[in-house]
Amino acid sequence: MLGEGIIKGMLETAKNFAGSFVSADRLTTVEYPEQRIPTAENARVFPFLVYDGAGWEAGLRCVACQICEKECPPKCIYIEKSKDKKPDFVGKMQIYPVRFDIDISVCMSCQICVEVCPFEAIKMDTQFELATDDRFGGLLMDRQQLAKSNEYYHSIHPAEAAEVDARLAQEKTAAEAKAKAAAEAAAAKAAADAAKAAAAKPETPAAGGN
Ligand code: SF4
Ligand code: SF4
Repeated sequence: MLGEGIIKGMLETAKNFAGSFVSADRLTTVEYPEQRIPTAENARVFPFLVYDGAGWEAGLRCVACQICEKECPPKCIYIEKSKDKKPDFVGKMQIYPVRFDIDISVCMSCQICVEVCPFEAIKMDTQFELATDDRFGGLLMDRQQLAKSNEYYHSIHPAEAAEVDARLAQEKTAAEAKAKAAAEAAAAKAAADAAKAAAAKPETPAAGGN
């Protein structure tokens, strides 16, 4: 029937409106900001940078590969690479961002930066109360403002963060096993080369012979 959906919707609204006077379950609105509904785990607003450990600067997972900067559709990420290196989460020496800004007045919350990051370094935040009257500087977030701990990531997206931790731990174990195997192979090769060199060496004639 034409308009059936509209009538059903209106009836549902009327039922909730009348029911809200007798049942709290029918009250579908809250008095924000005094009251808040819990944020859904899959909510996403703007990106943040994840860091491990206690210090945000030393612990940033980002290695300034600039993939997110290239892939961001409205081009609102600005990255400058370091000239030196620091260890990443598997202990591999990596460059890091000396500058990492996101202009959240331009960001469209598409999450593409998160999807393309190979280092699990950038994730979507649920923080939405960011209004400011400073349209330019106030909405240009630098790396310190963007940096949030892995514990914070767990607090807003627990299931996703646990999955990421498990994957990173697996990668770390595999990298350590690979490094150990390479070191053992190098040591075995060095020992084999030394044995070969010793076998090929001519015997020194005995001293004092005629
Ligand atoms: S969420 Fe989308 S628009 Fe925002 S910084 Fe990431 S890629 Fe760019
Ligand atoms: S956030 Fe990820 S994709 Fe972007 S520069 Fe850092 S490591 Fe690369």
